[in-house]
Order: sequence, then structure tokens, then C-alpha cells
Amino acid sequence: MPTEVKKPRILFLFSDTGGGHRAAAEAIIEALEAQYPDQFTWEKVDIFKDYAPRPLNRMPDWYPYMVLAPDLWGASFKVTDGRVRARAITSTMWPVAARTARSIIRNHPCDLVVSVHPLAVSLILKALGKNRPPFITVVTDMVTTHALWYDQRSDVILVPTEAARNKAIQYGMDPETVKVVGQPIAQKYCTPIGDKNAIREKLGWQKEPFTVLMVGGGDGMGPLGQTARAVADSGLDISLKIVTGRNERLKKSLEKNIWKVPTTIYGFTKDMPDLMRASDVLITKAGPGTIAEAMTASLPIILYAKLPGQEDGNVTFTVEEGAGVWAPTPNKTVQTLMEWVNHPEIREKFVEACKRVAKPNSSRDIALEIGNKLGI
Ligand code: UDP
Repeated sequence: MPTEVKKPRILFLFSDTGGGHRAAAEAIIEALEAQYPDQFTWEKVDIFKDYAPRPLNRMPDWYPYMVLAPDLWGASFKVTDGRVRARAITSTMWPVAARTARSIIRNHPCDLVVSVHPLAVSLILKALGKNRPPFITVVTDMVTTHALWYDQRSDVILVPTEAARNKAIQYGMDPETVKVVGQPIAQKYCTPIGDKNAIREKLGWQKEPFTVLMVGGGDGMGPLGQTARAVADSGLDISLKIVTGRNERLKKSLEKNIWKVPTTIYGFTKDMPDLMRASDVLITKAGPGTIAEAMTASLPIILYAKLPGQEDGNVTFTVEEGAGVWAPTPNKTVQTLMEWVNHPEIREKFVEACKRVAKPNSSRDIALEIGNKLGI
């Protein structure tokens, strides 16, 4: 009887703190399935929701509220960032986190670990000990990447930008292990847009004028409602598509609003790739996933908000690459939008920059690195 060949098992560590970590893990799995069909199995674990002791398991639910105090968030990012400080955080957390980290490993035996969350790097590596499977870190922040992402024990560290690579090296990582691949994004963003009207029809949109898509990450964060109202009241001939993500309260409040322009409100949607590819402009919080997706979908970006600290670099990167504008008040957002609607040639320059900076092969390259380490 032929012996069944055991497929290598990959464990993905993420958390739903925002929507970016899950989206990154799913994009990598999608690319792996395309590259190595039927050659591996995978499991995905939310390190907080699935494993952390109460009340820490509610971290993903608290995240949108924690970031309501952006100055405090920014200050804690700065105070905790740094090689020595990151080590101190890991040591301080260890007595509480050791049991959790060990149960994750015990319950999910695997042949390779991929972490797309900074808090699942050092603690899991420490719990794994010496005789462990290969460990790959996929950094999902663009530039201002916290020191907690970086641990010399990671076999491969995949980063989205040169700036993130420099930061990794500055934090003592071996340059040989750190590779720039881009932010992992779903394949659908990478397929040519073709006829925009066909996508619009598929989405059930009417014949739309200039279409503005608005999103505040997976949790509908920042002054999304206030900014949307200002955009709708601008007098521009536009239609608005607002994605509130998992922020149900915002969705309900926006649904009660009387809109001066044709407006559709979406809750959490799986259609982001089509929504982006069918729109003319994106107004968004400076989430790294959303920015990379928009760049790949050739969709110029207006950034209305950021999380101080971890998202500072996303703003600099987008603006310096010419793919978007930092417009941190509803007034500035409206001014930029007016300019782009009234002068299509200006918007077109941003479209070209998006095309230049996009890394459509990022997920495939990450999949190849994983396949290489697994020997498949
Ligand atoms: N997203 C989604 N559906 C929604 C809202 C957001 O699929 O209704 C996705 C979005 O396309 C991106 C991720 O959630 O992949 C948000 O990640 P980002 O890094 O931009 O921000 P975060 O939510 O992590 O702060």
C-alpha cells in the first residue's frame, strides 16, 4: 500500500486588532495555494481572541477604543519602541504570556510558523525554544515599524519597504535575513482593472459620476463620519461609497443621515478589491494594508487620519512617493478632492505614482520564501 506523504503544516499567527493582520495572513495563504496547490496545510490563530486569558482576549474589541486617544497611543508607541525596551517588554510579559504561548504551540504542531503580528514574534520564539520549526516574520507596518517586530531568532524577516529594512538592521537584525517584498495583498487587487464600468455594474452601482470611496480600516476608525459629511456637503458632483467596517455604531448613524449626494454605506465588506478598482479616489485612515491595496489598484489616496507612532511612516511614505496627500481635517480633505475633481491631470499624476510604487508580486514573493523554507 502506498504510504501517504504528510503535507507540511504552516501556522499563521495574527490578531484582529484592526483589519490589516488578518488581511495579510489571508493574502499569503491565497498566494501559497496558487503556488503550491494541495502541497501544504495551514491553521490561522488569533493570538488574543483564541488564546489570551480574560480580559486580554477582548483586545481586538478594545482596539478601536484604545486608539480613540491617539496622543496617548502615540506616546506609548514612542516610549516602548527600541531594542532594549522591546526586550524588557517581552521579559515583563513572559510570566503572564508563557502559558498562552506554550498552549498555542502545543495545540498547533506545525512545520513552519509565520507571524504577521508584532506581539507574536518574541514570545512565541521564546516558547518554541531551540528545537523549533523555521519562523518567518512578515512585517505589516510600512516604515515606522515597532522594535517588537524584530527578533534575531526569526529565520527570515520580510518587510514592505527599504525604510523598514533599514529599521530592522538598525535594531540589530542580520541584513541577510531581512528582505523587502512589499505589503502582502490579495490577488484581486493585482488583476488589471479593464473596464471600470463592468466592475461598477457588478457591484450594482448606477451610472456613477466621480466616485469617492471612504474607509477607516477594518474598524471604521478616525473621524470617518465627520469627513464623509463634509465631502457630501462640498457641492461637488460625486457619489460616495462609505465603508464603516466592523463599526456598527457608525454605520447606523450614517444610515440616518440625509445625504446631498448619492451615497451607499457598507458595513464590513469582502468586496474591497472591487470597490477600490471601481472608484476614482480613496479617502482613508493611514492603514498600511489599505494604502498598499489602493496603490496596487491605481487609486489615488487622501489620508484623513493616522494612528500616531505606527502609522506616521505610512503618511510620509505615501506623500513622498507621490501616491497621496495628507489632509488631516475635513476642510483639507475637501480642498484636495476639489482639486482632483476639477483638474483631472493632477489626479492622474497620483495614479501614475500609485502604479510606480505598487508591488503586485508581494504575496507571491512571500509565498515563495515560505515554500523555499519548507522545501516544497
Ligand atoms: N477591510 C475589509 N473590509 C472592510 C474594511 C476593511 O476587507 O469592510 C480590509 C482592508 O481592505 C484592509 C484591512 O481591512 O486589508 C485594513 O487594514 P489596514 O492595515 O489598512 O488598517 P487596520 O484596520 O489594520 O488599522
